Amino acid sequence: MYQSRLTLFVWLIAIGIVSFSQHLLAKTTFAPELKDNLVILQYHHVATNTPTITSTPPDVFAEHLAYLHQHFNVVALPEAIDALREGTGLPDKSVAITFDDGFDNILTNAHPLLRKYNFPYTVFINPALIGHTRTQLTWEEVAQMSQEGVSFANHTLTHQHLLNRRHITSNNGHSDDVTIENETQWLKRILGDITQAETLLKERLGYSLRYLAYPYGEFNRTLSNALSNLGYMGFAQHSGGVSSQSDFAALPRYPAAGRYAQLGTLKIKLNSLAMPVLHSNITDPEVTENTPDEMRLLLDTQDFNLTGVNCFYQGAVQPTVIENGVLIVALSENLPTGRSRMNCTAPSKREKGRYYWLSQPFFKANENGKYID
Ligand SMILES: [Zn+2]
Repeated sequence: MYQSRLTLFVWLIAIGIVSFSQHLLAKTTFAPELKDNLVILQYHHVATNTPTITSTPPDVFAEHLAYLHQHFNVVALPEAIDALREGTGLPDKSVAITFDDGFDNILTNAHPLLRKYNFPYTVFINPALIGHTRTQLTWEEVAQMSQEGVSFANHTLTHQHLLNRRHITSNNGHSDDVTIENETQWLKRILGDITQAETLLKERLGYSLRYLAYPYGEFNRTLSNALSNLGYMGFAQHSGGVSSQSDFAALPRYPAAGRYAQLGTLKIKLNSLAMPVLHSNITDPEVTENTPDEMRLLLDTQDFNLTGVNCFYQGAVQPTVIENGVLIVALSENLPTGRSRMNCTAPSKREKGRYYWLSQPFFKANENGKYID
């Protein structure tokens, strides 16, 4: 009797394991449906007298909008994110428009054009800077834009490099000791900044999206996990399409300023599809001694050939190897300090001229443990 119960117990566990793995498979294997795809554009300045690298000239911006109006569905970011999260899907060729930093030229140069097409958009702002410098929007302008359908979200209080660790000076009674804050102290400080910024947004706007755009697109896994646990969604600035399978704590956006403002190359990105990644061995974009020396990707290849995947790093094509269905790209032993990205693309078999696109960012501090602009 006891033995048969034990056998039954073992069987139940085995069935449990099998059904759980099937559940995992069901979650990770998906048809690359066109309605499960979103492209997010990231702008900063729309002006000609601002730093080229973060600026889109107004006439070029107008060209972007005219092209979007003709060929794409511009959707509000919050609605698009909800649709992907809830699995209700989006129209094919859905694009969301975002701006970072809350510059006043968004209102003077971009807003009238966006209003002309009735395009919704989202601005990530630093609440402690709003109204404090000549080039920033004021709270009155933020309120006016809100009434006209613009949504605002969190870009931290003052736009610091979030991965920088601070020096802490403490007096031991005889002299000052200087130590670098540990991970707990660092995370507490950063989450404090973000939640304070969110509180200010809520006070001024009356709503709180809990969307954070990481300044400079820089984040690490500890931070993105902590933000997820607090109910935040994260937006970065590595490229790539977004789908329901994306990491919602660090969603990719395509920068559309500087040399990325050219409509010719932007068209390819607007038409891109989220790369269906089943597994990657790179779990943290922050480069440490534990960063693997190769990137290993398991991809869902229903609509492209693994041999058709091209990976680029710092503008150069990287050799790839396929081993048991896993795509392997070597990473340099010495990834450069600052921000870099490995981009991998593959042409869709079904959708001619469209590419699956994945970007893996890497962030590495300099010898002083700091990140620079
Ligand atoms: Zn920014």
